[in-house]
Amino acid sequence: MATLKMVPNKPMSYSERPSRNYTRSMSKIMLCALAFVALISMPGAGFAQTMDPVFAEHQKAWTTKHEFSSPLVDHLPASTGVPSPRDVLGHDIGAPRVLDRYADILKYYRALAAKTKRVKIIETGATEEGRPTVIVLISADENIANLEINRQNLVKLGDPRGLTEDQAKDLIARTKPIYLILGGLHSAETGPPEMLMELAYRLVTEDSPLIASIRQNVIVGINPTTDPDGRDRYTDWYYRNKIDDTDDLDPVPGAPYWGKYIFHDNNRDINYTGFSSRNLLAFYLQWRPPIMHDLHESVPFLYTFSGQAPQNPSLDPILFGEMPWISNFEMAQLTKYGMPGVWTHGFVDEWSPGYVGFMSTNHNGLFKMYETFGNGGATTELRHIKPVEGPGEDLHASDQTVREWFRPNPPYKTVEWSMRDNTNYMETALLSALQMTSEFPQQILENFYRKSFNSIAAGRTEAPYAFIIPGDQADMTKVALVINLLRLQGIEIGRTSAEITLKEGKFPAGSFLVKRDQPYGRLAKILLEKQKFPDSKLKTYDDSAWSMGMMAHVKVVPTADLTALDATVQPVDQYRPDGTIGTASAAAFAVLDHGSINMATLRYRLRNVSVRIAEQPFKTGDQEIPAGSFVIEGKAYEKLKAAVVPLGLTALALDKVPNVPMHEAALPRLAIYSTWGSTQNVGWIRYAFDRLETPYELIFKDEIRKGGLRSNYDVIIVPSQGRSAKSIVFDIPMRGKPLPYTKTAEFPTQGAYGSSPDIRGGMGLVGVEELRKFVNDGGTLITLGDSSAVPGEFGITPDIEVSRPTKAFYAPGPIVNAKVLKPANPIFYGYTDTTLTVRWATTALLALPFRNQNDVLMSFPGGDKMVQSGLMVGACEVKNRPAIVDLPVGSGQVLMFMTNPIHRWQNFGEFRMLYNALFSYKGLRKDLGGPPVMPDEPTAAEDKPADAC
Ligand SMILES: [Zn+2]
Repeated sequence: MATLKMVPNKPMSYSERPSRNYTRSMSKIMLCALAFVALISMPGAGFAQTMDPVFAEHQKAWTTKHEFSSPLVDHLPASTGVPSPRDVLGHDIGAPRVLDRYADILKYYRALAAKTKRVKIIETGATEEGRPTVIVLISADENIANLEINRQNLVKLGDPRGLTEDQAKDLIARTKPIYLILGGLHSAETGPPEMLMELAYRLVTEDSPLIASIRQNVIVGINPTTDPDGRDRYTDWYYRNKIDDTDDLDPVPGAPYWGKYIFHDNNRDINYTGFSSRNLLAFYLQWRPPIMHDLHESVPFLYTFSGQAPQNPSLDPILFGEMPWISNFEMAQLTKYGMPGVWTHGFVDEWSPGYVGFMSTNHNGLFKMYETFGNGGATTELRHIKPVEGPGEDLHASDQTVREWFRPNPPYKTVEWSMRDNTNYMETALLSALQMTSEFPQQILENFYRKSFNSIAAGRTEAPYAFIIPGDQADMTKVALVINLLRLQGIEIGRTSAEITLKEGKFPAGSFLVKRDQPYGRLAKILLEKQKFPDSKLKTYDDSAWSMGMMAHVKVVPTADLTALDATVQPVDQYRPDGTIGTASAAAFAVLDHGSINMATLRYRLRNVSVRIAEQPFKTGDQEIPAGSFVIEGKAYEKLKAAVVPLGLTALALDKVPNVPMHEAALPRLAIYSTWGSTQNVGWIRYAFDRLETPYELIFKDEIRKGGLRSNYDVIIVPSQGRSAKSIVFDIPMRGKPLPYTKTAEFPTQGAYGSSPDIRGGMGLVGVEELRKFVNDGGTLITLGDSSAVPGEFGITPDIEVSRPTKAFYAPGPIVNAKVLKPANPIFYGYTDTTLTVRWATTALLALPFRNQNDVLMSFPGGDKMVQSGLMVGACEVKNRPAIVDLPVGSGQVLMFMTNPIHRWQNFGEFRMLYNALFSYKGLRKDLGGPPVMPDEPTAAEDKPADAC
């Protein structure tokens, strides 16, 4: 396509920008303007179509520099029967100070679909707050008419078992690739949901050869907003608090909540807890789009992902050819249009499978991702782009304005940046990616087919050939969690009906077999294997480990025995272990504790029943009943049965109440403390607690500062909030204006999950003192992960020293061994091993005086052998550091986890430690304290192992 002559336009001054009442005032003006539409032909483009002069005028005025536009987006066809965004929303896309709420976004797509045969809307479900989720499919009339057959073809190409090469070729020739675009996963990244509406309209209406070719050869899918709840909450926040931000050196902080629970981690939700991610996954598995493209905002001006190292070696090598194939094309096209600051290769890697859009590469598709420069709203802002080196930083690694081989025309150091600039870049790049796809649809489909084919073949040629999850594990409820999460992702699982013998041993009937010779065999391997990080000099963007078995404390055995593939199995759809209960007339029941997290739910379902916890193991007949088991009187049979059976637990009948030490499983009055500035990790705890039916109060600075905590609560949990102790105490600085987060008629989404007239200021030292009083008066304070630095650094436990590892230490979420030092302590009910796998979760290291040696319940042995999966550089720095400590303070206690016992919805094996602490909070110190054990003199004969610290 020939380029248009571009005329520099002067940057728009602030006074020229539309006011907040823009939408109301502009619609009348536009109606007048439309009456004067003339035929505009695009020079050199080989077509003539009536264009919308009002749009062109706006686009030019709202673009801050002429080079921030392109010939692909400086025009828009005049509306003739098919509604443009302005017809429905009252404004053109990229209007300053205007963000659309989700209902209006949906209204636009539905209005568009109502007036054209080129659009079909697929309903996919609803969000936590009840907003509908949809996918909008756009293509030529005949492609939309043929959608169902095309869908079936893609399913066959994605699972080519039984297809010959000729049949595959024939299918490829008759099929259009679906290119699925996601916008608005992160609610502060406000541009994509706006831009996508304009793209949809353009794809439906424009007659240029480029757009016609895309329409003919590609089915474009649009997920209008991947987090609809967050879109509305952020938009309300923007209008109320952030709309006047004009300089990024003095920004108003973002909204405290987006969606219901997990904020930015909706892109780390490896097990698809979020409803909209889950709905998207269900759509994905039904439609199998070969390309998925996730739109984000952060680095300037536009970064297009190409899958840089570390790359997950289990993924097909074809992927690492096709990702840069398209991203290099986009970079070349935009650079050719004169747009500076477009780059690739230098940001985000392809290691962890946990990002939402990676559902495509996990399932043999192709993933694309942009980071476009965005202002966290639609206000034009002066932006400063890392012009200088920060302390300890490498200029070339951190300064995105520096020229690099992968960034040939870098972004500017300062720039006035608008929503329309953001739209221009993203839409131009997307049209370039769609151009490439429309020119090579057969190659895209061939690659998709070949990657799917290779995944099946690799399962027969590369060990492990299968994973066995033995069916005789003491706790089958955690096995069920793993099985059902694998099934959710479309992985096939079979169950054996007879014992099988493999190289690795015998496995009983009822074991689960995940054979690798299936379309998603690679994904099964990625999720179940131990992660061997390829190069300890590389960094990774998120967790370096996620091995499901280690995270869940479920035994998973990889097999190098090919005969596993021939074992007879029954396909498993969902697995739900049945609970059992003994005879109704028993004197009492013992609910066996083998570490199920469903024991927690059981306790809450029996909240009106006396539930005692056996402190020691005992026997009934030949049956050993472990410590931690619940003992419940026989008269509660009906209530117990109603809970135990669906929860998959075992209640044995006892002929008498056992004569062992027991204590009541406590139901403490429980509060969870949240800062306003970092609600995400708190959100994961809230998610787990809600799902496990655990009642709690969520409290914030105002409740803490008010005091009187002990009269309201027995236990306060301070979850890891991912930041320093100082930031947990002081939180959002008292700068600028008050920041209300309260529900009003104008801003109905505010005030959800917590409410404050001003979220600034933190609990402060006043709050710390109230927490200290709470503990002193007999309360139990439980801190998780990095929050465990607060008691030591702010004097609640003055004997604890807190330090940080050296700069050489690097531990992006590995799974490590921890050593249980007090196995009889209630915290370890349900655990039988004294070495447990836990996810590394802290940047703070604790040190206790020697006299407190007996207050440490679990520690990190240190050294490379401690690392079970993923990467930890400098593992000797954590040698013998406490992992769990309980210290008495006044008449209360502070229980500090340096692990995070609820890390996302992921480390199920650790959850019980936190629940044990709740149910037995009064008895945690029973075997703690007392004089330390004096160590023996080391003998010279003791050889240190090679990796010893
Ligand atoms: Zn993002």
